[in-house]
Amino acid sequence: MHLIDTHTHLYQPAFDGDREEAMNRCQKVGVDFLLLPNIDVDSVPRIQNMIARWPNRCRGMMGLHPCHVKEGWEKELKKIEEVLNAPMPQSPWVAVGEIGLDLHWDTSTLDLQLEVLRIQLDWAKQRALPVVIHVRSAFKQLFEVLDSEMDDTLKGVVHCFTGDTQEANHVLSYPGWMLGIGGVSTYKKGGLDRVLPHVPLDRIILETDSPYLAPVPYRGKRNESSYVAIVAERVAEIAGVTADEVAKVTTENALRLFGLDGLKG
Ligand SMILES: [Zn+2]
Repeated sequence: MHLIDTHTHLYQPAFDGDREEAMNRCQKVGVDFLLLPNIDVDSVPRIQNMIARWPNRCRGMMGLHPCHVKEGWEKELKKIEEVLNAPMPQSPWVAVGEIGLDLHWDTSTLDLQLEVLRIQLDWAKQRALPVVIHVRSAFKQLFEVLDSEMDDTLKGVVHCFTGDTQEANHVLSYPGWMLGIGGVSTYKKGGLDRVLPHVPLDRIILETDSPYLAPVPYRGKRNESSYVAIVAERVAEIAGVTADEVAKVTTENALRLFGLDGLKG
């Protein structure tokens, strides 16, 4: 089984004590590729370090997370754009991410978040890169932006999707867009068991969002990228197919969306 964790923060301090071991555990269960979404300026060197250490197993994406949009964002965004324009040798950024809207923690920054999101969607269009979208308590506002910004070049994923069937259908109405499915699919009250039967397998990619949102039976503990294998099992159970089939199709989806063909192996 070959799996890609399409959204993992394994570069964060939570793994400073055992990152090598966590990477070894990935290899053991067939998780042979990790995509690392950026958060803010401070997380950039951490992502670069992981790419330097595992150039054949990690790729990064570059963007400013909506929870880190605050006064003075112009300077922060300018630095992130500079990094986006200067990828490491042999390791192009695979997406603009993670970007989006989060009204769960702070609604006062909505206007700033909207402006920063539109700017970063524009980066993606100019560079023909996909976007990785974080959305929390803000589907309505997100869809207003995406509906108006959508064009032939804009592709992406709504990562850690936890919405309802209507919201899933809205995302899937955008050609080539994916739902990122993670540990919430294993939660009894997660709601995805009602949504996923209506989602074609070729519109799903798998992720952990580690160190957050660990799947059952590790719920509440530190999440890690090897657990994406558990997510594959769970999606298979809901879809009524084998985990091998889920791994094969979702890996192909991720390779296609992020332009990773030829990098694997
Ligand atoms: Zn994330």
